[in-house]
Amino acid sequence: MNLAQYERYPLTFGPTAIEPLTRLSDHLGGDVHLFAKREDCNSGLAFGGNKLRKLEYIVPDALAQGADTLVTIGGVQSNHTRQVAAVAAKLGMKCHLVQESWVPFPDAVYDRVGNILMSRLMGAEIEMVDVGFDIGIRESWEAALTSVRDRGGKPYAIPAGASVHPLGGLGFVGFAEEVRAQEATLGFQFDFVVVCTVTGSTHAGMLVGFADDGRADRVIGIDASGTLEQTRRQVLQIASDTAEKVELGRGITEGDLTLLPDYAYPAYGVPSEETNDAIRLCAQLEGMMTDPVYEGKSMQGLIDLIRKGFFPKGSRVLYAHLGGVPAINAYSYLYRNG
Ligand SMILES: *Cc1c(COP(=O)(O)O)cnc(C)c1O
Repeated sequence: MNLAQYERYPLTFGPTAIEPLTRLSDHLGGDVHLFAKREDCNSGLAFGGNKLRKLEYIVPDALAQGADTLVTIGGVQSNHTRQVAAVAAKLGMKCHLVQESWVPFPDAVYDRVGNILMSRLMGAEIEMVDVGFDIGIRESWEAALTSVRDRGGKPYAIPAGASVHPLGGLGFVGFAEEVRAQEATLGFQFDFVVVCTVTGSTHAGMLVGFADDGRADRVIGIDASGTLEQTRRQVLQIASDTAEKVELGRGITEGDLTLLPDYAYPAYGVPSEETNDAIRLCAQLEGMMTDPVYEGKSMQGLIDLIRKGFFPKGSRVLYAHLGGVPAINAYSYLYRNG
């Protein structure tokens, strides 16, 4: 495998911390040893998160093309669009964000706080579009690119979640390489990695990275999209393309992919009672915050899988904390009493 052939523009502090979740492990019976890899604390760019690892490999291409405006798309409380706005500010570029109504959530301040508030403060131009959830490529996004060009700008298009981009899977190949180096220092290997999956390139990059030492099947994806088949297809496509790009020497197939559908209900961006219980449990036992859209659902999955005995006794499980906490502000009514 050869990831180093691709240029990387540093946007993060460096390798992210791995910490034991001792109280949560004990609370769940102590048979499984939980650890978190803190992608949520990976950068000083507007609270960071998983999209920055992907953007580290996309930014060199944007710079090489002489682009002056980053254009991207997401839901109203998208973490991805906030991270792109921060990168644009840091690079001295303009930023145009298409924010769609992916989440049917009625909080009065939903479109004013958290991620979108930060994107506005960082100077991004924001276009609100009233259409529902879709991880694919959208008409409104094409229109945004045209409008930048019409004004004489040079747009650089970054798809939703920085996923369906030829370089989108590379960042999380790097995550796996980083975990391997950290395992060498820790003196043990993780038996499983749990990750939240929506637009797919985080999971896809991990599959390729961990396939390099035969562990692709140890990546447990928790779907939070609620559109399982589309997300499955997208993960497999990105993983196959990325495997070829880094010269993995083998393909990624259906058999490598574990994507569990049981925690995405009732809908993308809407937490269930069980998601909220997981958010509260993790906050109260570890002081580790998770959000109702993504990490709360993968935390719910992690807890449920431990309770069901999915992981053999003595397993070491690495929870990839991908960020997303700023969105919690948009759910203020839900959590008004904790
Ligand atoms: C985007 C995001 C995810 C999902 O990652 P994908 O690469 O889109 O599958 C998970 N958690 C958080 C906090 C995110 O912002």
